[in-house]
Amino acid sequence: MALGLDYTGKRVLVVGSARTARRVLARYLAAGATVYQLAEAGTTAGAIGTTGTAAPVAPAVPGVLTPAFPRSIGAWDALIAAVDLVAVVETSPHTDAVIAAACARHRTWLSRETAASTSPVGSVTLVGGGPGLEKLLTVGAMAALNAADIVYYDRLGPTDRLDDWAPGAEHVDVGKAPGHHAIPQRDAERMMVTSALGGLTVVRLKGGDPFVFGRGGEEVLACRAAGVPVTVISGVTSAIAVPAAAGIPVTHREVSHLFTVVSGHAPISDTELTHLIGLGGTIVVLMGIGTLQQMVAGLARLGMRTDMPVAIVERGFAHDQRTTLGRLDTIGALATHAGVRSPAVVVIGEVVALAAHGDDDAAQLLREAAELAT
Ligand code: SAH
Repeated sequence: MALGLDYTGKRVLVVGSARTARRVLARYLAAGATVYQLAEAGTTAGAIGTTGTAAPVAPAVPGVLTPAFPRSIGAWDALIAAVDLVAVVETSPHTDAVIAAACARHRTWLSRETAASTSPVGSVTLVGGGPGLEKLLTVGAMAALNAADIVYYDRLGPTDRLDDWAPGAEHVDVGKAPGHHAIPQRDAERMMVTSALGGLTVVRLKGGDPFVFGRGGEEVLACRAAGVPVTVISGVTSAIAVPAAAGIPVTHREVSHLFTVVSGHAPISDTELTHLIGLGGTIVVLMGIGTLQQMVAGLARLGMRTDMPVAIVERGFAHDQRTTLGRLDTIGALATHAGVRSPAVVVIGEVVALAAHGDDDAAQLLREAAELAT
Protein backbone atom coordinates (compact mmCIF):
# COMPACT_ATOMS: atom_id res chain seq x y z
CA MET A 1 0.00 0.00 0.00
CA ALA A 2 1.50 3.31 -1.05
CA LEU A 3 0.66 5.76 1.72
CA GLY A 4 1.03 8.85 -0.40
CA LEU A 5 -2.02 7.93 -2.50
CA ASP A 6 -5.50 9.08 -1.53
CA TYR A 7 -7.68 5.98 -1.20
CA THR A 8 -10.81 7.78 -0.05
CA GLY A 9 -13.79 6.29 -1.87
CA LYS A 10 -11.56 4.10 -4.06
CA ARG A 11 -12.71 0.53 -4.64
CA VAL A 12 -10.04 -1.91 -3.54
CA LEU A 13 -10.29 -5.66 -4.07
CA VAL A 14 -8.13 -7.58 -1.60
CA VAL A 15 -7.35 -11.18 -2.55
CA GLY A 16 -6.50 -13.42 0.40
CA SER A 17 -8.12 -15.02 3.44
CA ALA A 18 -9.47 -12.82 6.22
CA ARG A 19 -6.60 -13.97 8.44
CA THR A 20 -3.64 -13.52 6.11
CA ALA A 21 -5.07 -10.31 4.66
CA ARG A 22 -6.13 -8.82 8.01
CA ARG A 23 -3.43 -6.13 8.01
CA VAL A 24 -4.06 -5.20 4.39
CA LEU A 25 -7.84 -5.06 4.91
CA ALA A 26 -7.42 -2.91 8.02
CA ARG A 27 -5.08 -0.54 6.20
CA TYR A 28 -7.34 0.06 3.23
CA LEU A 29 -10.39 0.44 5.48
CA ALA A 30 -8.47 2.93 7.63
CA ALA A 31 -7.48 4.81 4.46
CA GLY A 32 -11.16 5.31 3.57
CA ALA A 33 -11.38 2.85 0.67
CA THR A 34 -14.42 0.72 -0.16
CA VAL A 35 -12.94 -2.70 0.44
CA TYR A 36 -13.89 -6.00 -1.18
CA GLN A 37 -12.31 -9.28 -0.22
CA LEU A 38 -11.96 -12.52 -2.15
CA ALA A 39 -10.67 -15.69 -0.57
CA GLU A 40 -9.85 -18.57 -2.82
CA ALA A 41 -11.32 -21.33 -0.67
CA GLY A 42 -14.56 -21.26 1.31
CA THR A 43 -15.70 -17.98 -0.20
CA THR A 44 -19.09 -16.70 0.82
CA ALA A 45 -21.72 -17.03 -1.90
CA GLY A 46 -22.49 -13.83 -3.72
CA ALA A 47 -23.05 -12.40 -7.12
CA ILE A 48 -21.56 -9.91 -9.48
CA GLY A 49 -24.26 -7.28 -9.94
CA THR A 50 -25.81 -6.72 -13.34
CA THR A 51 -23.94 -3.45 -13.70
CA GLY A 52 -20.69 -5.27 -13.22
CA THR A 53 -20.07 -4.09 -9.67
CA ALA A 54 -19.30 -6.57 -6.95
CA ALA A 55 -22.44 -7.24 -4.96
CA PRO A 56 -21.94 -7.01 -1.18
CA VAL A 57 -22.85 -10.15 0.74
CA ALA A 58 -22.30 -11.28 4.34
CA PRO A 59 -19.08 -9.43 5.23
CA ALA A 60 -16.44 -11.66 6.84
CA VAL A 61 -14.59 -8.67 8.28
CA PRO A 62 -16.74 -5.75 9.46
CA GLY A 63 -16.90 -3.13 6.75
CA VAL A 64 -15.53 -5.46 4.07
CA LEU A 65 -17.70 -6.65 1.19
CA THR A 66 -17.32 -10.21 -0.12
CA PRO A 67 -18.23 -10.84 -3.76
CA ALA A 68 -18.50 -14.38 -5.14
CA PHE A 69 -15.29 -15.99 -6.28
CA PRO A 70 -15.20 -15.58 -10.10
CA ARG A 71 -15.36 -18.90 -11.92
CA SER A 72 -14.66 -17.67 -15.42
CA ILE A 73 -12.43 -15.18 -17.18
CA GLY A 74 -15.57 -13.16 -17.94
CA ALA A 75 -16.48 -13.02 -14.26
CA TRP A 76 -12.94 -11.91 -13.38
CA ASP A 77 -13.10 -9.22 -16.03
CA ALA A 78 -16.41 -7.89 -14.68
CA LEU A 79 -15.06 -7.77 -11.14
CA ILE A 80 -11.69 -6.26 -11.94
CA ALA A 81 -13.19 -3.66 -14.25
CA ALA A 82 -15.38 -2.55 -11.35
CA VAL A 83 -12.57 -1.76 -8.93
CA ASP A 84 -9.73 0.76 -8.88
CA LEU A 85 -7.07 -1.44 -7.36
CA VAL A 86 -6.46 -5.13 -6.69
CA ALA A 87 -4.25 -5.98 -3.71
CA VAL A 88 -3.10 -9.59 -3.90
CA VAL A 89 -2.03 -10.93 -0.53
CA GLU A 90 -2.28 -14.67 -1.01
CA THR A 91 -3.51 -16.76 -3.90
CA SER A 92 -2.47 -19.61 -6.18
CA PRO A 93 0.00 -18.89 -9.01
CA HIS A 94 -2.79 -19.67 -11.48
CA THR A 95 -5.24 -17.17 -9.97
CA ASP A 96 -2.46 -14.62 -9.65
CA ALA A 97 -1.81 -14.90 -13.38
CA VAL A 98 -5.54 -14.58 -14.19
CA ILE A 99 -5.78 -11.48 -11.99
CA ALA A 100 -2.65 -9.89 -13.49
CA ALA A 101 -3.98 -10.42 -17.02
CA ALA A 102 -7.39 -8.96 -16.16
CA CYS A 103 -5.76 -5.98 -14.44
CA ALA A 104 -3.67 -5.37 -17.56
CA ARG A 105 -6.76 -5.54 -19.80
CA HIS A 106 -8.75 -3.13 -17.65
CA ARG A 107 -5.88 -0.88 -16.57
CA THR A 108 -6.71 -1.62 -12.96
CA TRP A 109 -3.83 -1.07 -10.51
CA LEU A 110 -2.29 -4.27 -9.13
CA SER A 111 -0.39 -4.36 -5.85
CA ARG A 112 1.19 -7.45 -4.30
CA GLU A 113 1.22 -7.17 -0.51
CA THR A 114 2.70 -9.04 2.40
CA ALA A 115 0.57 -11.65 4.15
CA ALA A 116 0.19 -11.41 7.92
CA SER A 117 1.49 -14.29 9.99
CA THR A 118 -1.00 -17.08 10.60
CA SER A 119 1.06 -19.08 13.04
CA PRO A 120 -0.87 -19.71 16.28
CA VAL A 121 1.75 -17.82 18.24
CA GLY A 122 2.52 -14.33 16.98
CA SER A 123 5.68 -12.40 17.70
CA VAL A 124 7.01 -9.33 19.43
CA THR A 125 9.37 -6.87 17.79
CA LEU A 126 11.01 -4.28 20.01
CA VAL A 127 11.46 -1.27 17.79
CA GLY A 128 13.80 1.59 18.56
CA GLY A 129 11.93 4.64 17.35
CA GLY A 130 14.78 7.14 17.64
CA PRO A 131 14.62 10.44 19.49
CA GLY A 132 11.33 11.67 18.05
CA LEU A 133 12.06 12.83 14.53
CA GLU A 134 10.34 10.84 11.79
CA LYS A 135 13.45 11.00 9.60
CA LEU A 136 15.35 9.16 12.30
CA LEU A 137 13.04 6.14 12.23
CA THR A 138 14.87 3.32 10.46
CA VAL A 139 13.60 1.48 7.39
CA GLY A 140 13.36 -1.61 9.60
CA ALA A 141 11.26 0.26 12.15
CA MET A 142 8.87 1.43 9.43
CA ALA A 143 8.51 -2.09 8.03
CA ALA A 144 7.81 -3.56 11.46
CA LEU A 145 5.20 -0.90 12.21
CA ASN A 146 3.56 -1.44 8.85
CA ALA A 147 3.20 -5.16 9.56
CA ALA A 148 1.92 -4.77 13.12
CA ASP A 149 -1.49 -5.85 14.40
CA ILE A 150 -0.95 -3.95 17.63
CA VAL A 151 1.55 -1.29 18.69
CA TYR A 152 2.43 -0.64 22.32
CA TYR A 153 4.06 2.78 22.52
CA ASP A 154 5.07 5.38 25.07
CA ARG A 155 5.56 9.12 25.05
CA LEU A 156 9.30 9.07 24.30
CA GLY A 157 8.92 7.26 20.99
CA PRO A 158 7.90 9.11 17.85
CA THR A 159 4.13 8.84 17.70
CA ASP A 160 3.01 11.85 15.65
CA ARG A 161 2.07 9.81 12.63
CA LEU A 162 1.53 6.37 14.13
CA ASP A 163 -1.77 6.17 12.24
CA ASP A 164 0.15 6.36 8.98
CA TRP A 165 3.07 4.13 9.98
CA ALA A 166 0.85 1.41 11.45
CA PRO A 167 -2.43 2.01 9.65
CA GLY A 168 -5.32 0.06 11.08
CA ALA A 169 -3.23 -1.45 13.89
CA GLU A 170 -4.49 -1.05 17.40
CA HIS A 171 -2.39 1.50 19.31
CA VAL A 172 -1.94 1.10 23.06
CA ASP A 173 -0.23 3.76 25.20
CA VAL A 174 1.86 2.08 27.89
CA GLY A 175 3.78 5.28 28.53
CA LYS A 176 4.77 6.76 31.75
CA ALA A 177 5.10 10.36 32.78
CA PRO A 178 8.19 11.05 34.92
CA GLY A 179 7.62 9.62 38.38
CA HIS A 180 4.26 8.23 37.38
CA HIS A 181 4.09 4.82 35.80
CA ALA A 182 0.87 4.81 33.80
CA ILE A 183 1.21 1.08 33.26
CA PRO A 184 3.72 -0.82 35.38
CA GLN A 185 6.50 -2.44 33.38
CA ARG A 186 5.41 -5.98 34.28
CA ASP A 187 1.85 -5.27 33.15
CA ALA A 188 3.09 -3.87 29.85
CA GLU A 189 5.17 -7.00 29.35
CA ARG A 190 2.18 -9.21 30.19
CA MET A 191 0.01 -7.32 27.68
CA MET A 192 2.57 -7.76 24.89
CA VAL A 193 3.02 -11.45 25.63
CA THR A 194 -0.75 -12.05 25.79
CA SER A 195 -1.26 -10.33 22.42
CA ALA A 196 1.50 -12.41 20.83
CA LEU A 197 0.20 -15.64 22.32
CA GLY A 198 -3.13 -14.75 20.71
CA GLY A 199 -1.40 -14.88 17.32
CA LEU A 200 -0.87 -11.14 16.82
CA THR A 201 2.16 -9.44 15.34
CA VAL A 202 3.14 -7.10 18.16
CA VAL A 203 5.39 -4.06 17.99
CA ARG A 204 6.73 -2.43 21.12
CA LEU A 205 7.76 1.04 19.95
CA LYS A 206 10.29 2.66 22.23
CA GLY A 207 12.13 5.95 22.27
CA GLY A 208 15.73 5.95 21.06
CA ASP A 209 17.31 2.51 21.18
CA PRO A 210 15.49 -0.30 23.02
CA PHE A 211 18.64 -1.41 24.81
CA VAL A 212 19.77 2.01 26.07
CA PHE A 213 17.92 2.48 29.37
CA GLY A 214 14.83 1.30 27.56
CA ARG A 215 14.11 -1.84 29.59
CA GLY A 216 14.30 -3.70 26.29
CA GLY A 217 16.35 -6.47 27.86
CA GLU A 218 13.61 -7.18 30.38
CA GLU A 219 11.01 -7.32 27.63
CA VAL A 220 13.12 -9.76 25.61
CA LEU A 221 13.41 -12.00 28.69
CA ALA A 222 9.66 -11.82 29.34
CA CYS A 223 8.94 -12.89 25.76
CA ARG A 224 11.46 -15.72 25.87
CA ALA A 225 10.05 -16.96 29.17
CA ALA A 226 6.60 -17.11 27.57
CA GLY A 227 7.85 -18.85 24.42
CA VAL A 228 7.10 -15.83 22.23
CA PRO A 229 9.50 -15.18 19.32
CA VAL A 230 11.09 -11.78 19.86
CA THR A 231 13.36 -9.60 17.75
CA VAL A 232 14.93 -6.21 18.32
CA ILE A 233 15.33 -3.40 15.82
CA SER A 234 17.95 -0.96 17.04
CA GLY A 235 17.13 2.72 17.01
CA VAL A 236 19.00 6.00 16.96
CA THR A 237 19.74 6.76 20.59
CA SER A 238 19.10 10.18 22.08
CA ALA A 239 22.48 9.86 23.81
CA ILE A 240 24.16 10.68 20.49
CA ALA A 241 21.43 12.27 18.39
CA VAL A 242 20.19 14.87 20.87
CA PRO A 243 23.66 16.38 21.49
CA ALA A 244 24.11 16.31 17.70
CA ALA A 245 20.86 18.23 17.28
CA ALA A 246 22.46 20.97 19.39
CA GLY A 247 25.65 20.89 17.32
CA ILE A 248 27.62 18.83 19.84
CA PRO A 249 29.63 15.83 18.56
CA VAL A 250 30.12 13.31 21.37
CA THR A 251 33.63 12.60 20.10
CA HIS A 252 35.97 14.89 18.20
CA ARG A 253 39.49 14.30 16.99
CA GLU A 254 42.01 15.56 19.51
CA VAL A 255 39.24 16.76 21.82
CA SER A 256 37.55 13.59 23.09
CA HIS A 257 38.10 10.02 21.99
CA LEU A 258 35.56 8.39 24.23
CA PHE A 259 32.14 9.02 25.62
CA THR A 260 30.30 7.45 28.50
CA VAL A 261 26.53 7.27 28.63
CA VAL A 262 25.27 7.20 32.17
CA SER A 263 21.84 7.20 33.76
CA GLY A 264 21.11 9.96 36.22
CA HIS A 265 17.84 8.33 37.23
CA ALA A 266 19.38 7.54 40.62
CA PRO A 267 22.18 9.70 42.06
CA ILE A 268 25.58 8.75 40.64
CA SER A 269 27.88 7.63 43.44
CA ASP A 270 31.11 9.44 44.28
CA THR A 271 33.09 6.38 43.21
CA GLU A 272 31.47 6.42 39.78
CA LEU A 273 31.91 10.17 39.46
CA THR A 274 35.61 9.80 40.31
CA HIS A 275 35.98 7.15 37.58
CA LEU A 276 34.13 9.32 35.07
CA ILE A 277 36.45 12.24 35.80
CA GLY A 278 39.45 9.92 35.49
CA LEU A 279 38.38 8.74 32.03
CA GLY A 280 38.65 12.26 30.72
CA GLY A 281 36.15 11.82 27.91
CA THR A 282 32.69 13.15 27.18
CA ILE A 283 30.00 12.32 29.74
CA VAL A 284 26.44 12.01 28.45
CA VAL A 285 23.74 11.81 31.10
CA LEU A 286 20.24 10.60 30.35
CA MET A 287 17.38 11.03 32.84
CA GLY A 288 19.72 13.40 34.64
CA ILE A 289 17.59 16.46 35.41
CA GLY A 290 16.36 15.26 38.80
CA THR A 291 19.90 14.62 40.04
CA LEU A 292 21.68 17.42 38.13
CA GLN A 293 22.62 19.59 41.11
CA GLN A 294 23.98 16.66 43.07
CA MET A 295 25.98 15.45 40.05
CA VAL A 296 27.62 18.75 39.09
CA ALA A 297 28.42 19.51 42.74
CA GLY A 298 29.94 16.04 43.08
CA LEU A 299 32.04 16.37 39.92
CA ALA A 300 33.41 19.73 41.10
CA ARG A 301 34.09 18.44 44.60
CA LEU A 302 35.88 15.38 43.25
CA GLY A 303 38.23 17.36 41.06
CA MET A 304 36.74 18.06 37.64
CA ARG A 305 37.80 21.44 36.22
CA THR A 306 35.14 23.93 37.24
CA ASP A 307 35.25 25.63 33.83
CA MET A 308 34.40 22.35 32.04
CA PRO A 309 31.76 23.13 29.39
CA VAL A 310 28.32 21.62 30.05
CA ALA A 311 25.21 21.61 27.88
CA ILE A 312 21.67 20.62 28.67
CA VAL A 313 19.59 19.87 25.59
CA GLU A 314 15.87 19.66 26.33
CA ARG A 315 13.24 18.16 24.04
CA GLY A 316 15.67 17.26 21.26
CA PHE A 317 14.14 17.52 17.76
CA ALA A 318 10.91 19.05 19.08
CA HIS A 319 9.86 22.49 17.80
CA ASP A 320 10.78 23.92 21.20
CA GLN A 321 14.16 22.21 21.57
CA ARG A 322 16.30 24.30 23.91
CA THR A 323 19.98 24.22 24.74
CA THR A 324 21.38 25.67 27.93
CA LEU A 325 25.14 26.13 27.82
CA GLY A 326 27.34 26.74 30.82
CA ARG A 327 30.29 25.47 32.81
CA LEU A 328 30.48 22.98 35.61
CA ASP A 329 30.35 25.79 38.16
CA THR A 330 27.50 27.73 36.53
CA ILE A 331 25.22 25.11 34.99
CA GLY A 332 23.39 24.35 38.23
CA ALA A 333 22.25 27.95 38.66
CA LEU A 334 21.55 28.30 34.95
CA ALA A 335 19.41 25.19 34.92
CA THR A 336 17.40 26.39 37.89
CA HIS A 337 17.00 29.81 36.34
CA ALA A 338 15.90 28.37 33.00
CA GLY A 339 13.63 25.80 34.66
CA VAL A 340 15.06 22.92 32.64
CA ARG A 341 12.83 19.88 32.53
CA SER A 342 12.95 16.30 31.39
CA PRO A 343 13.38 14.91 28.76
CA ALA A 344 16.83 16.34 28.42
CA VAL A 345 20.35 15.13 27.70
CA VAL A 346 23.22 16.57 29.73
CA VAL A 347 26.62 16.67 28.04
CA ILE A 348 29.77 17.37 30.02
CA GLY A 349 33.10 17.78 28.26
CA GLU A 350 35.27 19.83 25.94
CA VAL A 351 33.15 18.81 22.94
CA VAL A 352 30.40 21.09 24.25
CA ALA A 353 32.57 24.06 23.29
CA LEU A 354 32.32 22.83 19.71
CA ALA A 355 28.57 23.40 19.65
CA ALA A 356 28.09 24.87 16.23
CA HIS A 357 25.34 27.10 17.44
CA GLY A 358 23.61 28.08 20.61
CA ASP A 359 20.07 29.34 20.43
CA ASP A 360 19.10 32.80 21.63
CA ASP A 361 17.96 31.59 25.02
CA ALA A 362 21.27 29.87 25.60
CA ALA A 363 23.23 32.95 24.57
CA GLN A 364 21.14 35.05 26.93
CA LEU A 365 21.65 32.57 29.74
CA LEU A 366 25.38 32.58 29.14
CA ARG A 367 25.40 36.36 29.46
CA GLU A 368 23.42 36.07 32.68
CA ALA A 369 25.82 33.40 33.90
CA ALA A 370 28.71 35.74 33.31
CA GLU A 371 26.87 38.36 35.34
CA LEU A 372 26.13 35.87 38.11
CA ALA A 373 29.77 34.89 38.24
CA THR A 374 31.02 38.46 38.69
N1 SAH B 1 16.20 4.39 25.01
C1 SAH B 1 16.28 5.83 24.98
C2 SAH B 1 16.55 6.41 26.36
C3 SAH B 1 15.47 6.14 27.38
S1 SAH B 1 15.79 6.92 28.90
C4 SAH B 1 17.34 6.25 23.96
O1 SAH B 1 18.13 5.43 23.51
O2 SAH B 1 17.35 7.43 23.61
C5 SAH B 1 14.90 8.42 28.70
C6 SAH B 1 15.85 9.59 28.62
O3 SAH B 1 16.36 9.72 27.30
C7 SAH B 1 15.23 10.93 28.91
O4 SAH B 1 15.12 11.17 30.31
C8 SAH B 1 16.23 11.86 28.28
O5 SAH B 1 17.40 11.97 29.07
C9 SAH B 1 16.61 11.09 27.04
N2 SAH B 1 15.83 11.49 25.85
C10 SAH B 1 15.14 10.67 25.05
N3 SAH B 1 14.61 11.35 24.02
C11 SAH B 1 14.97 12.64 24.19
C12 SAH B 1 14.75 13.84 23.46
N4 SAH B 1 14.04 13.84 22.34
N5 SAH B 1 15.29 14.99 23.92
C13 SAH B 1 16.02 15.00 25.06
N6 SAH B 1 16.25 13.89 25.78
C14 SAH B 1 15.76 12.73 25.35
